[in-house]
Amino acid sequence: MNKINQRRVATIQVDLDGLWTNLEYYGYKSEVSPDVVFQSSIPRFLELFEKYNVKATFFLIGKDGEVKKKADLVKQIVKAGHEIANHTYSHTFGFRKLSPAEKIKEIEKGEEVIQRIIGKKPVGFKVPGYDIDVETLKILEQKEYIYDSSVIPTGVYPLIMKINQLISGGVKRTHGPKWNWFLAPNRIYRPSLENEWKNGDTNIVELPPTVIPIIRVPFHATFATKFGLNFFKFGHYLTEKFNLHLNYEFHAADLADDIEDERLAHLKAISFEKRFLICESIIKKISQKYEVVTSEELIKMCPEKKK
Ligand SMILES: [Zn+2]
Repeated sequence: MNKINQRRVATIQVDLDGLWTNLEYYGYKSEVSPDVVFQSSIPRFLELFEKYNVKATFFLIGKDGEVKKKADLVKQIVKAGHEIANHTYSHTFGFRKLSPAEKIKEIEKGEEVIQRIIGKKPVGFKVPGYDIDVETLKILEQKEYIYDSSVIPTGVYPLIMKINQLISGGVKRTHGPKWNWFLAPNRIYRPSLENEWKNGDTNIVELPPTVIPIIRVPFHATFATKFGLNFFKFGHYLTEKFNLHLNYEFHAADLADDIEDERLAHLKAISFEKRFLICESIIKKISQKYEVVTSEELIKMCPEKKK
């Protein structure tokens, strides 16, 4: 994929995880309705992307697309020239454990909602909570998806989950990245059909969220807003040094209003003002260094594309 590096192209992805998905992550049941995280963050992303001439990819959950106010925002995203990709229908945590039929249903229903709103089938996919497996990749391949962005090449998430489990004595979380993803490529690759984290020969391309080279620590916006802009700069410096493609990931919560829901009080620790400053600086920096295209556009310019 040298050609991509020569052209200095980067991709930015936004996971549209609204308030209800954040609540479900922490074990609370919640209704899918217009919510502060989804509604307040999208106009800000659109404004910043326009200001810095960025074309990005937004991963939509099907259930959100069924809410009129949310679908209207999705139309605005597309009108501004960005891409909508599939983030499943109901954002089930533990996707890997679903039966093949359930996986297909989640992918197809998410796809149908997107098609209804924007009149076009998505070509990219991201599983909730980085919980992909080869079975899902095979389904995506059959359904002619051209890329997936679920394999985050780090051991940090399993480590955090293990520590949390030891401290709280709580239930062992079994979903999420696997330990051996620490060894997955930190660049675009074709996964093997035996191991999703190994190089192989599938038709689908894996476009992983970039992590800091060598130390393999994520530096996406959730981490950067927590640890500061210098943390992002460090990750970006090494990514450039190693001439890696940058696929930078945001979540809706990164640019949302402060959340007033007490159950998510810990998310209030970093104020909106601080998050906005850091996110804008990141988008500005990336736009100065690269031409930022959608994930679909990037994959279509891959010289190693098979089909
Ligand atoms: Zn998500």
